[in-house]
Amino acid sequence: LMQLSIPLNFIGSVYREIRQGLADIEQMFALLDVHPEVKDAPDAKALEVTDGVIRFEDVHFSYDAARPILKGISFEVPAGKTVAIVGPSGAGKSTISRLLYRFYDIDRGRISIDGQDIREVTQASLRGKIGMVPQDTVLFNDTVGYNIRYGRIGASDEEVARAAEMAQIGPFIEKLPEGLNTMVGERGLKLSGGEKQRVAIARTILKAPPILILDEATSALDTATEQEIQASLDYVSKGRTTLVIAHRLSTVINADEIIVLRDGVIKERGRHDALLAQGGLYASMWTRQREATEAEEQLKRMREQD
Ligand code: ATP
Repeated sequence: LMQLSIPLNFIGSVYREIRQGLADIEQMFALLDVHPEVKDAPDAKALEVTDGVIRFEDVHFSYDAARPILKGISFEVPAGKTVAIVGPSGAGKSTISRLLYRFYDIDRGRISIDGQDIREVTQASLRGKIGMVPQDTVLFNDTVGYNIRYGRIGASDEEVARAAEMAQIGPFIEKLPEGLNTMVGERGLKLSGGEKQRVAIARTILKAPPILILDEATSALDTATEQEIQASLDYVSKGRTTLVIAHRLSTVINADEIIVLRDGVIKERGRHDALLAQGGLYASMWTRQREATEAEEQLKRMREQD
């Protein structure tokens, strides 16, 4: 009976969170993906977001003690601005977004939002203020409309349709057999990575959080899809403090600051033009990516001619 009561209690608390409307989809996964080390402090208060300033101060973190992942990271995302994190695979980029969402607690340093240490606020209030567009969006086996409405359960049909429009999936939905009532997921229509990401963006538009984390998909998207996603991301991040874990160049060009991470330390930082002029790691990443994109497009043109 002891063995049984623990998971049942746990499911009970997840269920209650959802019923309270506090949990959004990412939070639900966060709850299911148990990280017992992260607990609310006994005197935790609700996070109060006034301006939405994010600050990392000398942040150290490792998943296991033997292998440090972040080795003293400091940066600030000013209110309403966009900071992009770039760097080679395994550098620790996604780890930064997980730490801001407090999936894990840090080993040393401080992460704060408007001066409040995120360890001293309730996880529900923290996650309620952050919209996360993850790399791989997991959709419910339900309608497209439900999957969007999950951002704000009380939203009207009109609001859901408008969010879809803003996320640039209006025309796509119009072509579906039953529009927003079309079932998706394992038992319904399969959506591409880019379509799923736009559903997540529409959901975030409905949630309207003051802070955004965008974790871009690594998978290659064609230029048209990339431009559509970029347009919807620009829309959703306008006026919101945004942290982008960037894999695509189109997202970083307009970022207020780009942070180049390698092996858990910040190697370079600045705006796109300044970093290019510096001729360092960022400049070489940029050249390589541009060559790869050009090669891909040339290949596509050749295929189209056949
Ligand atoms: P990519 O561009 O490939 O997504 P990234 O820069 O986002 O890479 P992270 O996902 O932050 O990299 O991972 C940084 C390092 O931490 C990697 O070496 C990874 O293997 C390791 N790592 C990530 N998640 C875990 C985990 N849950 N447990 C242990 N190690 C992990």
